[in-house]
Amino acid sequence: MNSLLERKTDHTDTAIVDIHNRTFKKLRISLTSACNFSCKYCVSSKNMKVERSNYVAPQQILHWVQSIQRVTPLDAVRLTGGEPSLYRDLPELIKRLKEAGIPQVGMTTNGSLLNVQAGQLAAAGLDSVNISLDAVNEQEYKRMGGRRYQQVQSSLQTALEAGLNVKINATILQNINDNQIIPLLELAMRHNIIIRFLELMPMGYLFGSKDELLVSADDILKIISNKYSFTALPREKSSTSNYYKLSGGSVFGIIGNHSTPFCRDCDRLRLDTKGNVYGCLSNEKGIALDSDKTRDALQLAMEQKQIDRFSGSSLSMRYIGG
Ligand code: SAM
Ligand code: SF4
Repeated sequence: MNSLLERKTDHTDTAIVDIHNRTFKKLRISLTSACNFSCKYCVSSKNMKVERSNYVAPQQILHWVQSIQRVTPLDAVRLTGGEPSLYRDLPELIKRLKEAGIPQVGMTTNGSLLNVQAGQLAAAGLDSVNISLDAVNEQEYKRMGGRRYQQVQSSLQTALEAGLNVKINATILQNINDNQIIPLLELAMRHNIIIRFLELMPMGYLFGSKDELLVSADDILKIISNKYSFTALPREKSSTSNYYKLSGGSVFGIIGNHSTPFCRDCDRLRLDTKGNVYGCLSNEKGIALDSDKTRDALQLAMEQKQIDRFSGSSLSMRYIGG
């Protein structure tokens, strides 16, 4: 065992803290690597083959979550994938997570099934959804790899009516959907919800490639400032996003992995469908959650975190989840 680990596991309090004083509080769980979309930034058009998804029963996921909870309390769990709405036992899993005392259960989804699932998921206890929507216009939406355009458009309203806390995530690519920044912002304003614009992350097949598709946080702010005035809000601790308030009162955010990295107070770990935990998307080495040594695995995963800057990796976002 390395000396760092020995030192950390000697702690008598329950918190899992790394050497930079970052505390583990939130878990992202990838439920499947299956997906019904082929987003340009996530799936390569050259090689559409993704590792076959591994089905994990809710009992197994609960077992992993509870073994973590025995070590340290979790503030929130976010379900992701692949496309988490394709996971066949989703309502049951959500219900069990809430019964296990997870205060906030959220999901990141492409929204393609939310128009039929939202009510059932809210009833099971889901608190929030982040809907990934990269364009308002159908043509750009399809160019980005989105499908089921009408269903996704109506999913926003359905999710709100079901009582879910809704945000939009939009990943912006140069000359593909950068003309959608204002229409997306205005869509979010009409629904009175927050939109976050994401800078492209060098993950999976994009790892190591030139960042010619990148639209930076500054570029996004410049486009918005051509039409609207806004002020920056103070950054909340551990937030991936910097938020801005428009003069009309609406709030939008930018997740700038590249321009405004948020590693210094990151409080998240990730769990894949095989029971491996990961400290960072920049490190593709999963650490098995061994029941007897859960604390050690979590501590090691925390030590995987980048010091201050995201570097990307060849991990597929469709496997590990965003
Ligand atoms: N399928 C779900 C969805 O699309 O919302 C959940 C999984 S997806 C991997 C999670 C988030 O990661 C989405 O908001 C997606 O836009 C984002 N994402 C995927 N690949 C990305 C990349 N290379 N750069 C930036 N964001 C990416
Ligand atoms: Fe599927 Fe989400 Fe990846 Fe798009 S970003 S291909 S919806 S997993």
